[in-house]
Amino acid sequence: MPQAFFLPLNHPALRFEGRCLSCGDATHETVLLSGGVRGDDALSWAQPLPLCAGCEAVGARRHRLRSWISAGCWGLGGALGVGVALGLLLGAGWRAWSAGAAGLPAALLGGLLLRAASAAWLEPALWRRLQVGGVPLSRYREVELFCFREPRKGADARFICLRLEDDDAAAAFARLNPEAMSLEAWEASY
Ligand SMILES: [Zn+2]
Repeated sequence: MPQAFFLPLNHPALRFEGRCLSCGDATHETVLLSGGVRGDDALSWAQPLPLCAGCEAVGARRHRLRSWISAGCWGLGGALGVGVALGLLLGAGWRAWSAGAAGLPAALLGGLLLRAASAAWLEPALWRRLQVGGVPLSRYREVELFCFREPRKGADARFICLRLEDDDAAAAFARLNPEAMSLEAWEASY
């Protein structure tokens, strides 16, 4: 179960022990992970995080594969929506705009269901089968960083969130960064 930690965006550098956040091996290697919000409201944050070269390669492979799977799910969902719209248009004699309006939710629902199904079954099966440098992709423990605005905590309140899947890494991070709020503390702060 990943654990999330919340800190103000302008917080000084986060503290880590010299261990890989995924496998726990001692390492001096770091990757610069950045998280942000695009568009007019752009916000970004980059933070070096300890991750050994092996875990970085495995994590990058998983990230790429997940992007492809996600694109495939949305593509299939879109094809389903087009099929539904065409079926209503040609088979049931619906007007073009109402057939199109019915195809859109079919595409969204189809994409969402396919995405959920692939996250539950396809990805875990793939991660067990595929390897990078002899390490199965299932060995990787997710490390995620993102930043966001929270208007409910102030007009310009900005925060970062670090999510760690590995329990030992999360416990060490909480010990070294006592000011970081856990998800429970964050929810209780409203
Ligand atoms: Zn590692």
